[in-house]
Amino acid sequence: MKKTITCTVCPRGCEIEAEYTSAADIAVKGHSCPRGERYAKDECLAPKRVFTSSVRIDAPGRRMLPVRTSAPVAKDMLIPCAEAAHGIRVEGHVNVGDVIRRDFLGTGADLVASMTL
Ligand code: SF4
Repeated sequence: MKKTITCTVCPRGCEIEAEYTSAADIAVKGHSCPRGERYAKDECLAPKRVFTSSVRIDAPGRRMLPVRTSAPVAKDMLIPCAEAAHGIRVEGHVNVGDVIRRDFLGTGADLVASMTL
């Protein structure tokens, strides 16, 4: 299988060609650094994304707190993450980067606040 991938790891946006049949047989070209090679392989075999959403917060003048995962999570976990985030309610003062849920849904990434409220 062949795939053309635009690397989003940095602003350079290299266009990477990937050809693969399995995890053991994958060739990539067009990347400018090892991070791009890793990104392209992940996109072929196990794509990941940073999950972003908002959760309810009890804070003066605010009802919603923007949140994100501290690292990319498997793409097929985005909907379960959205469903779980819907049920989260935060109380009190929150600083940007505060952990709202550690190892969110077992993804290995924490759910963290994207804003100080
Ligand atoms: S391959 Fe490397 S240099 Fe190119 S966009 Fe990805 S991270 Fe940036």
